[in-house]
Amino acid sequence: MFTTSRRAFFKAAAAGAVVPVFQIPLLASEADAGAVEPSLGSYSFAIGEFQVTMLCDGVFILPTDSFATNVQPEVKKPYFDAHYLAPDNVRLQANPLLIDTGQKRILVDAGLAPGTKWAAHAGRLSKSLAAAGVDPGSVDTVFLTHCHADHIGGLISDPTGQFPKADLVLSETELDLWNSPDYASKLPDWAAAGAPATQKVFAALGDRLHPIKGGADVATGVTAVETPGHTQGHMSLLVDSLADQLLITGDALANIHFSFDHPEWQIKWDHDQEKGVKTRKALLDRAASERLLVVGYHYPFPGVGHVVKEGMGYRWLPAVWIFDG
Ligand SMILES: [Zn+2]
Repeated sequence: MFTTSRRAFFKAAAAGAVVPVFQIPLLASEADAGAVEPSLGSYSFAIGEFQVTMLCDGVFILPTDSFATNVQPEVKKPYFDAHYLAPDNVRLQANPLLIDTGQKRILVDAGLAPGTKWAAHAGRLSKSLAAAGVDPGSVDTVFLTHCHADHIGGLISDPTGQFPKADLVLSETELDLWNSPDYASKLPDWAAAGAPATQKVFAALGDRLHPIKGGADVATGVTAVETPGHTQGHMSLLVDSLADQLLITGDALANIHFSFDHPEWQIKWDHDQEKGVKTRKALLDRAASERLLVVGYHYPFPGVGHVVKEGMGYRWLPAVWIFDG
């Protein structure tokens, strides 16, 4: 898969062709990796009596100028250079996850639609579920942190059949936002383009849709936390079993570098950029002071770690992998 796109990229570049902005150029070290289909798609760990499985949906890129939009170039450029964030595009992984409480199986976010033109290396959720030995028919609930295309995309082609017995749970604010006949006045232009497909998912699911408020339990030990800003109805989850807790932050903390060092740096993809900053700071403070284990949707896989207070900001500390059996 990678070999084909690598050849196409270099061929196009050599011919002086314009390479689409969302095509992923590989690093020099990856050019030697060969045509091996990545097999690693899941990573499981325990939270008390629950099992949590991180599922790799793949990787896509977004333009660098969509991040740190309120920062002067003379500050932004050296920071991005120092953190190996390319000047033209930033790579993001997409990591849905499955919580198995023993009573319920809850999928958190559904990845991108397979075959998405601007994200050819994403949309792998069904493969990662298979690699983890999870039958999609055994999923009781799909919870969406919000309705951007990289979170609801995996439901679009077959909303009722992808997870045939699952209910869809999301914030009532988020449902109203995307389902409104007046969505175009409430969403940024780039997001509004995805609303018709999102409305089709809602319509197909009918009474399997369950809007909730912040503080509601998605299942016993899995509680919704309102974290607005990225979207008006964005929700995080707090998972709590025995003495263990896990905070699932969705896109409230989008990047392991600048979201932690500079939570005040705004990003284009937050519908309300000032509220995004406020929510980010509050989440970071909570995670650090309560010493919570945290997962982020767009972090290098598996995206599990802790938040440490450092200087004026915070630092992401990836957790050590634990291998069972
Ligand atoms: Zn996202």
